[in-house]
Amino acid sequence: MSFGIDDLPVRDELRGKSPYGAPQLDVPVRLNTNENPYPLPEPLVERIAERVREAARNLNRYPDRDAVELRTRLAEYLTKTGGHRVGVENVWAANGSNEIIQQLLQTFGGPGRTAIGFEPSYSMHALIARGTGTGWISGPRGEDFTIDVGAAEQAIAEHRPDVVFVTTPNNPTGNAVPAQTVLALYEAAQAARPSMVVVDEAYIEFSHGDSLLPLLEGRPNLVVSRTMSKAFGAAGLRLGYLAAHPAVVDAVQLVRLPYHLSAVTQATALAALEHTDTLLKYVEQLKSERDRLVAELTAIGYDVTTSDANFVQFGRFEDAHATWRKILDRGVLVRDNGVPGWLRVTAGTPDENDAFLDAVRELKKEQS
Ligand code: PMP
Repeated sequence: MSFGIDDLPVRDELRGKSPYGAPQLDVPVRLNTNENPYPLPEPLVERIAERVREAARNLNRYPDRDAVELRTRLAEYLTKTGGHRVGVENVWAANGSNEIIQQLLQTFGGPGRTAIGFEPSYSMHALIARGTGTGWISGPRGEDFTIDVGAAEQAIAEHRPDVVFVTTPNNPTGNAVPAQTVLALYEAAQAARPSMVVVDEAYIEFSHGDSLLPLLEGRPNLVVSRTMSKAFGAAGLRLGYLAAHPAVVDAVQLVRLPYHLSAVTQATALAALEHTDTLLKYVEQLKSERDRLVAELTAIGYDVTTSDANFVQFGRFEDAHATWRKILDRGVLVRDNGVPGWLRVTAGTPDENDAFLDAVRELKKEQS
């Protein structure tokens, strides 16, 4: 027997667990990780190269620890698009919104504390909770995958979590959470402890509705997290950010590693933000492809959850994993998130979506 993880003195709560891992398989059509299918436009690639070349000349020095220029540009983007004025003092940035979530849990969770999410939802909330020693509470969601306010309020009152996660639009189900629901959960969370409420808006640019940024007004325990991985088409950049009361920005600095955002990352993100309009130009196209996927999947005879994101949850399958495999055999990689009976497909280019629709049409014929 070879030496393995179980032979190491790893923390008890990590024993027998698997790392987060959507398969990265080399197949013709990859619609499994909610990426934007369009590569960055060439003029932006050039601008990134220029900015990175400049940054390279100073790589003997540590980068701007507070990433002030980058946070200023992100604040401008949020103010322009979010329906709420956000300043540099309200914004914090990190390596992907996963790191934002980790920093929030290191600050407001940790040993002896708990966090709640309404599942199925983004599985990394629970995994990062575990990694930071925060207890995890799986909150309820209805049969139709919406959050039932009464049941959620009850769970918050019962468990008195220190951190409440609300993902809108939700991953993997796709549906958005109404502002009134978030307000009710915020009130319940304040009455119970008070605790921090983190609204994960990773997919908000694809939503039919508006961002919940205006709810930040007068609510210092509310945080909105965002990413450049989805709508901006820059998953490889690893840039996530949050908007909140300036006190929250001060608080996360207690746990961030010094110089966590490399000069190369900051230079690349700044170049990307100079081209926001070009980057976001595919959002409308992806939204209409998302709506086409919903319409065609329904026409083929599948059940589909309402989607405000760049992906669609479809079902129902007796054995979702077996169906996932059959779709893969046809050269299309979708996602099995472990939601019994359901799979998730990311909106790709029109050709990729056609390939996916052909595959599931074929499957439906086989089954009938
Ligand atoms: N939040 C949600 C809801 C997500 O689906 C994802 C990525 N799948 C993230 C956060 C993390 O994204 P990133 O770290 O790339 O910003």
